[in-house]
Amino acid sequence: MKILVLPGDGIGSEIVSQAVRVLEKIQSSPGEIELSHGVLGGAAYDQYGHPYPPETQKQARAADAILLGCVGGPKYDTLPRNVRPEQGLLGIRKDLSLFANLRPAMLYPELAASSSLKPEIVAGLDIMIIRELTGDIYFGQPRGRRTNANGEDEGFDTMHYAKSEVERIARVGFETAMKRNKKLCSVDKANVLDTSILWREVVTEMHKQYPEVELSHMYVDNAAMQLVRAPKQFDVIVTGNIFGDILSDEASMLAGSIGMLPSASLDANKKGLYEPIHGSAPDIAGQNKANPIATILSLAMMMRYTFNRTDLANRIETAVRKVLADGKRTGDIAQKGETVIGTREMGDAIVAAL
Ligand code: NAD
Repeated sequence: MKILVLPGDGIGSEIVSQAVRVLEKIQSSPGEIELSHGVLGGAAYDQYGHPYPPETQKQARAADAILLGCVGGPKYDTLPRNVRPEQGLLGIRKDLSLFANLRPAMLYPELAASSSLKPEIVAGLDIMIIRELTGDIYFGQPRGRRTNANGEDEGFDTMHYAKSEVERIARVGFETAMKRNKKLCSVDKANVLDTSILWREVVTEMHKQYPEVELSHMYVDNAAMQLVRAPKQFDVIVTGNIFGDILSDEASMLAGSIGMLPSASLDANKKGLYEPIHGSAPDIAGQNKANPIATILSLAMMMRYTFNRTDLANRIETAVRKVLADGKRTGDIAQKGETVIGTREMGDAIVAAL
């Protein structure tokens, strides 16, 4: 297993180093896991003057899977947009054609009280949100700024999907649903947007190949509402880039803390970039406060989706469940009165559980 490790910025190196300990622990023989290390985001800008430099690109292309911490930070906020840390993330996703973003939102029963919703609404929640990652209004051309006929400044972007782009993400949606509870909800805005009308047509057509899957369609505004009203109605959600960006963040709050949620971004051959959904948390960086669980669960996804090692994925997830059941809590998931442990101590507990 050739894995490239990119800690990134902020809390990245703290959380990724705990995940690397997990990798070392699950390796059954030396050399089974081959790690390389590189830079992305602000760290790459500092070293090479670009957030996704050719050096990292070469490493990323050679790896089977990539483990990323997180990128960004106030230090880089005033840089021109093309060299901001986030451009490193968009760059690597585009370069490796990582078009499918898988974000589970699940709530461990032990953490039901950390959710902002009532425990009975979220306990046992287990949703998979699949977001298209390389198209839509984030990449559509033309875009830019201009002065209109009235001499007023305006900004504009283009929402765009080609049929083939919808087909490949819809396929990931159907296949994922087949491995779970066979329910797929496609989210769009087909009452307003032409792009969404095409999206809905393509998903409906593909449904013929997956008759066992129960397919539904939902407008994005309704989906946003249903996610907080009755989130357990969902199994797998598939949606475009911008809707998925917003809905997956909303769903993450159902699960209590963004410090708990992993993600995978896959290409057509299951090569993947795995990362926690949270950012670089500059407010707690360098203080041994960050929760490393989202990063460690990202490794479990890596074992499951890229390496087909369900055994190792289950082992990691079981270890995480055990430390939570034992009452181990970082600050973000602790309730009032609970003892808080640090990033390293959480790593110690998970390695011990393994
Ligand atoms: P953030 O996710 O970094 O932080 C939001 C809040 O959650 C903060 O209070 C933070 O302390 C807390 N938090 C985040 N991760 C945590 C963890 N593992 N354990 C405990 N608490 C955690 O979002 P933000 O503050 O909006 O952004 C900070 C920087 O991160 C910005 O530069 C932003 O652009 C970048 N960012 C990067 C990514 C990414 O790398 N994928 C995603 C989002 C934001």
